[in-house]
Amino acid sequence: MAHKITLIPGDGIGPEVTRATVRILEATGVKFEWESFAVGADAYEKFGEYIPKEVIESIERTHVGLKGPVTTPVGGGFSSINVALRQKFELYANFRPIRNLPHIPTRYPDVDLIIVRENTESLYSGLEHEVVPGVVESLKIITEKASTRIARFAFEYARNNQRKKIHAIHKANIMKLSDGLFLRCCRTVAKEYPEIVYGEHIVDNTCMQLVMNPYQYDMLVMENLYGDIISDLCAAFVGGLGFVPSANLGEKCAIFEAVHGSAPDIAGKNVANPTALLRSALLMLRHIGEFDAALQIRNALEKVYRHREKLTRDIGGQAGTSQFADAVIEEMEAQSEVRPPAQSSRA
Ligand code: ATP
Repeated sequence: MAHKITLIPGDGIGPEVTRATVRILEATGVKFEWESFAVGADAYEKFGEYIPKEVIESIERTHVGLKGPVTTPVGGGFSSINVALRQKFELYANFRPIRNLPHIPTRYPDVDLIIVRENTESLYSGLEHEVVPGVVESLKIITEKASTRIARFAFEYARNNQRKKIHAIHKANIMKLSDGLFLRCCRTVAKEYPEIVYGEHIVDNTCMQLVMNPYQYDMLVMENLYGDIISDLCAAFVGGLGFVPSANLGEKCAIFEAVHGSAPDIAGKNVANPTALLRSALLMLRHIGEFDAALQIRNALEKVYRHREKLTRDIGGQAGTSQFADAVIEEMEAQSEVRPPAQSSRA
């Protein structure tokens, strides 16, 4: 039976990386039934809505989405579609594994770090207003419910996946009430998981500690904005934004998307690296139980990086997005003739 998946190609480099990813997914032989939709400015132009109701209905039906980046206007215009979808479906956990692919030269080899970002509140609540001309206020919302829920997600993941250590990242020395509440919730949950070492670091210090020695961390849990910033910093450990996948997870639905944005500077040029969305699709394949297909793609991806002939521009190559996808598919075809022994199936 085909897997029904809601597909949101997005804009900017979104359609290019989505096309490449879908071609690779289909080359596994797994059957998909894509329900494809535009959102954001493109949807508004065609249908007069930024998130057409068909998209919402589709995700409610399929429970799984694969999404390219969608541009959020800076300093005005409509609110973030990415944030709206996360809030609408209560995709409260943003799971971002930061792992090197082999054969990519980076400052730190073998980084294996997991960022768990609270996805529904903090300064992303979108509550901003002008108090008087020249003075604006943005409300940072932190609740006991959401903080406890994200802490529990992180500790459960650690317990079930043999992770050893979790650091809660905060700025509770300044935001004593909001980040203070977040920390209290993490501490309470941590007590239920005595086998996992629990620590707390202030967010600015964390940035420095990460750059000095990323190996000191295992898993990081934090509120929304810190998660956004720390994720981009950590992307640099594994080759840049073209490499980091993410899963937005809720009780009923999940949407898989790259950490990067729509990269308007390189859109439409067939130069974007589709690896981040492809790795997000690997998380999706495991979520829907297609472990063999995920392994098949991961092995092929590693071979493409090992051979170094068809790499995209961000990593020093000259291949276009579509040639990179061709190379992954060729490796998958070669593999299906000689099946390699099963390896671990991490993204
Ligand atoms: P947002 O705030 O919307 O998430 P961002 O800060 O993550 O966006 P991007 O739009 O992702 O910013 O782009 C940041 C830089 O990284 C740009 O120079 C862009 O070209 C580069 N970049 C992002 N994604 C890719 C990719 N898949 N392949 C190659 N370069 C990329």
